[in-house]
Amino acid sequence: MHDAIVVGLGPAGSTAAYTLASRGLNVIAFDKEKFPRYKSCGGCISTKIERTLDFDISGVFEDTVYGATFTYKSGRSTDIISDRPVGHNVMRDRFDALLVSRAKGAGASIVEGCRITGLRDEGSYVTARCGTGETYRARFLIGADGSSGFVGREVFGLNPRECAVSITAEVPYNRKEMNVSGRLFIDFGGIPFGYGWIFPKKDFLSVGIAGDAAKVRGRVKDYFNSFVSTHEILRGLKIDGKIGWTVPIFYNGAAPSIKGRVILAGDTGHLVDPFLGEGIYYAIKTGKAAADTVADCVAGGETDLAAYQVWLGKEIYPEFRAAEKLSDLVYNHPRLWYSILEKDPGIMQKFYDVIRGVDNCDSFYNRVYQSVTSRPWTVLRRWVASRFLAS
Ligand SMILES: Cc1cc2nc3c(=O)[nH]c(=O)nc-3n(C[C@H](O)[C@H](O)[C@H](O)COP(=O)(O)OP(=O)(O)OC[C@H]3O[C@@H](n4cnc5c(N)ncnc54)[C@H](O)[C@@H]3O)c2cc1C
Repeated sequence: MHDAIVVGLGPAGSTAAYTLASRGLNVIAFDKEKFPRYKSCGGCISTKIERTLDFDISGVFEDTVYGATFTYKSGRSTDIISDRPVGHNVMRDRFDALLVSRAKGAGASIVEGCRITGLRDEGSYVTARCGTGETYRARFLIGADGSSGFVGREVFGLNPRECAVSITAEVPYNRKEMNVSGRLFIDFGGIPFGYGWIFPKKDFLSVGIAGDAAKVRGRVKDYFNSFVSTHEILRGLKIDGKIGWTVPIFYNGAAPSIKGRVILAGDTGHLVDPFLGEGIYYAIKTGKAAADTVADCVAGGETDLAAYQVWLGKEIYPEFRAAEKLSDLVYNHPRLWYSILEKDPGIMQKFYDVIRGVDNCDSFYNRVYQSVTSRPWTVLRRWVASRFLAS
């Protein structure tokens, strides 16, 4: 009997395993893959991460981001760069392998290449079954099996259709020949309810596009092809190895993330910011909080995981709800949004503070909403002028 089983060793699961083992619990953690493994991802982590982990991860940073070059439908561009970092770019194979090694170093039992195929809450413990037939028992189980995992979907009944669909590719490039370091490239308007991106790493440009599944309606490949064939930065580069993946964004009305002795962290619980699709930070943050709740229960001989749900309601959901409102505003009017950024780059500078975690998304949304509604004629003029962006 273990204190805890963790299913999945992405950022959520490896942080959970690290936290549990560091607090002296007997934890066993499984991943169906062997590390390092590929994960389709832009790999940009906001600087909030620096206040979240208690060990150094700067060794796997491939680039530090100070802002972005924004475009509308791969056309006109505007640079909005800050004097302070906003995020760091990583390759997920190296980053995730580092987190797994820290969990192992803290004393967690790590089992790679083993898929968990089912679990049962037996009342006084939980059983997890491996694809190879063995079963394991623990007091608690943390589901951290990502967007393709079964725990959130099958055990908690979360809706897999509440997601963004994406296509990505890692494009080799010569860093010395291209002046792209220190910034992201973000394109609005090229896909319904989403955006396209180019995130520079040391040897690759991580290129992708993602949009709301219901609005994209199976045409994500077409949007990707159009984005990569028109964006200035990608001219002359060879784009192979496209991969499709889903981003299980937060949605209002999602079921709670605790059920009996099982608790969800990261993507499997749809704990992804619905505006940017930022999930790495939230996977780490929720993995840690889930593990702390389990450790507190073990220490106190309790079984009630409700403290985690209370924490989500206080620390995570308000930001996600504000991000949902911001998505509606921006992605329903991408052309207008781009023209606002072009004329008033200070707006994006303020949003960088939200990404850094020094301002909150709700107050940012209110500021944008007020500035739009208090100057309707200016906004209307910009909207009319922005029609020429499309040509
Ligand atoms: C195209 C794309 C671009 C993105 N870009 C960014 C970005 O730039 N910045 C950002 O912050 N976020 C980004 N995200 C989101 C981010 O990738 C996720 O939010 C993050 O990986 C979530 O971490 P996780 O640990 O919850 O899940 P994952 O990283 O998916 O890890 C889950 C793990 O569980 C394992 N697993 C699954 N099923 C089982 C099973 N049955 N048994 C055992 N193991 C199992 C998997 O092998 C995997 O290793 C992006 C996502 C996509 C799809």
